[in-house]
Amino acid sequence: MVERELGRPFPEDPQEQLWGAIGAVFGSWMVPRAITYRNIHDISADWGTAVNIQSMVFGNMGDNSATGVAFTRDAATGEDIFNGEYLINAQGEDVVAGIRTPQQITKEGSLRWAKLAHVSEEERASKYPSLEEAMPELYKELDAVQQKLEDHYRDMQDLEFTIQDGKLWLLQTRNGKRTGAAMVKIAMDMLKQGIIDEKEALLRQEPNKLDELLHPVFKKEAMAGAKVLAKGLPASPGAATGQVIFFADEANKYPNSLLVRIETSPEDLEGMNIANGILTARGGMTSHAAVVARGMGKCCVSGAGSIKIDYKTRTMVMDGKTIKEGDWISLNGSTGEVYEGKIETIDPELSGDFGKLMELSDKYARMYVRTNADTPHDSKVARDFGAKGIGLTRTEHMFFEGEKIIAMREMILAEDEAGRREALEKLLPIQRKDFEGIFEAMHDLPVTVRLLDPPLHEFVPHDEKGQQEMAEVMGVDVSVIKQKVEDLSEFNPMLGHRGCRLGNTYPEITEMQTRAILEAALNLKQKGVNAHPEIMIPLTGTLAEMKMQEEIVRATADKLFEERGDKIDYLVGTMIEIPRAALTADQIAQSAEFFSFGTNDLTQMTFGYSRDDAGKFLPIYIEKGILKHDPFEVLDQEGVGQLVEMAVKKGQQTRPDIKLGICGEHGGEPSSVEFCHCAGLHYVSCSPYRVPIARLAAAQAALR
Ligand code: PEP
Ligand code: MG
Repeated sequence: MVERELGRPFPEDPQEQLWGAIGAVFGSWMVPRAITYRNIHDISADWGTAVNIQSMVFGNMGDNSATGVAFTRDAATGEDIFNGEYLINAQGEDVVAGIRTPQQITKEGSLRWAKLAHVSEEERASKYPSLEEAMPELYKELDAVQQKLEDHYRDMQDLEFTIQDGKLWLLQTRNGKRTGAAMVKIAMDMLKQGIIDEKEALLRQEPNKLDELLHPVFKKEAMAGAKVLAKGLPASPGAATGQVIFFADEANKYPNSLLVRIETSPEDLEGMNIANGILTARGGMTSHAAVVARGMGKCCVSGAGSIKIDYKTRTMVMDGKTIKEGDWISLNGSTGEVYEGKIETIDPELSGDFGKLMELSDKYARMYVRTNADTPHDSKVARDFGAKGIGLTRTEHMFFEGEKIIAMREMILAEDEAGRREALEKLLPIQRKDFEGIFEAMHDLPVTVRLLDPPLHEFVPHDEKGQQEMAEVMGVDVSVIKQKVEDLSEFNPMLGHRGCRLGNTYPEITEMQTRAILEAALNLKQKGVNAHPEIMIPLTGTLAEMKMQEEIVRATADKLFEERGDKIDYLVGTMIEIPRAALTADQIAQSAEFFSFGTNDLTQMTFGYSRDDAGKFLPIYIEKGILKHDPFEVLDQEGVGQLVEMAVKKGQQTRPDIKLGICGEHGGEPSSVEFCHCAGLHYVSCSPYRVPIARLAAAQAALR
């Protein structure tokens, strides 16, 4: 085999063998597997690798020799138990290569293994004895060494050993890789055991790994014999099991449904929310299904290209097997695997060690964490995860459901201001109710509500049926609606009639939204619930734009307070998401009481990469090394970061107590959170399920 790989006979000269081996190690740095590994773990390719040359001992010198791998604590659960595997008369590779069944090091581990593998006690003791039983003296020595190593390195060790002719040799030791659960438990146990202090317990955590702990997982025992039928992208983590439905509006058909679609669209939102999980045949990590599912904290596997879905017959074929509507399947959104049948899941345990870790994080963090949430449910989830307020409520998300979209469309399609005002009258009570729900869920905490932001054509019907419906509602001919929809279309909607440009051209929209926000707050005040609204103007680029919006908000508020004979404290501020706003932040701060960095748009406009089209070239740019990361995921500190830092300085020059936060997607990404800390922001805001990650990242930033 080696000869075949080399294309020539295996060298007999030891020097040549040695040089060949050295070359193989250096050569391994650029193999695809190593490249993938580096990408996942964010290791730079220019580090290169090193070679140590070391004489070896032999574990295959007879039955008095052995080799094994051991962990000083359980790498899966974090339990403080010595464990591992070994083989008699074998070399290191034999243990990992799976040619022979490795045996357990401790007797306790061996008994547990036999139970899971259905091996009788007699067979276990004779064929698979533990090292503890087979070589008791050497086991004792190994046990003492593992304790010594862990005490020395003050972390869980992954060690390799060889026994050569009755003598124990340690080959290597290193800090062991571990699951998210083990990461938390080991650090918190070591803190209790006095091995490490609080700061070290915090700094040892990998924030992104907490994600594993925040979602349901499959029950270990339920996984025995589980069969993978397809594989897609791990779009949104966690495990889910349910009965297949193919149409989102039928999500209530079963108490536990699982939505399967070729791809999803905004109309599927409600069904996606009801279903236990989502599986799509098409779409990547940023597809509608993936993005929405992550926001909901719902398990999702996207782009499982091998499954064939037939909506007509309500069936799908996976790996040659036909699955009908109502059949059970299970998804692992952390690996992208799709399983046949029902696999029981368990909910995450967020108290105990996890709770203590979060408390510790808050003790050391300087920044606090808010959440991006548009519903009372999401607000509550985030609050339970420790969010100290809402940093962004995207009001447009409230307009999509049921009756609301009709009133919204009426407003957009209206002929003139009078028509718009009439439609806005219908929207007012709906918005007010939505805000009451959110303020109540977030009582006593600040809530930043952003006024309408997206281009209006996103709300109007583009299909025949929808246009017909609107024509009937508005009592006009369908051709009028068609024409209006056409008029609204833009060449570059992201740079078009959106953000504060809407509120400045149609002030009545800002008036209605301001009224809805403040009326909701006043209504709650009467019920004894404290609301702290912060009204946020989107897409500001100049002071004049901001000032005009501020004036409308304040005039509306004054009028309302007079009408009601009551008032409430509120703030008016802006998103900083246009480069010009960052450059002139000193001026904008004359009017804005707070800045929230909208780094999604700020990245889009600083790079000139369209958020909607970047998927076509960003993956290639990353592969070719033109970009190190997707700048929409990891904040570009060098470029976009400069604008953030500049805006902070300039904003504080004008208004020293200006409130500063971030609400772009970067607010939940650990390296970006660290940047925000250094830039002097007061808080970060992220999706509910990233709140704990951001809390930990904020603490680490402060400690570093
Ligand atoms: C942003 O641009 O960063 C932001 C939070 O707003 P949106 O994503 O809604 O444009
Ligand atoms: Mg934006």
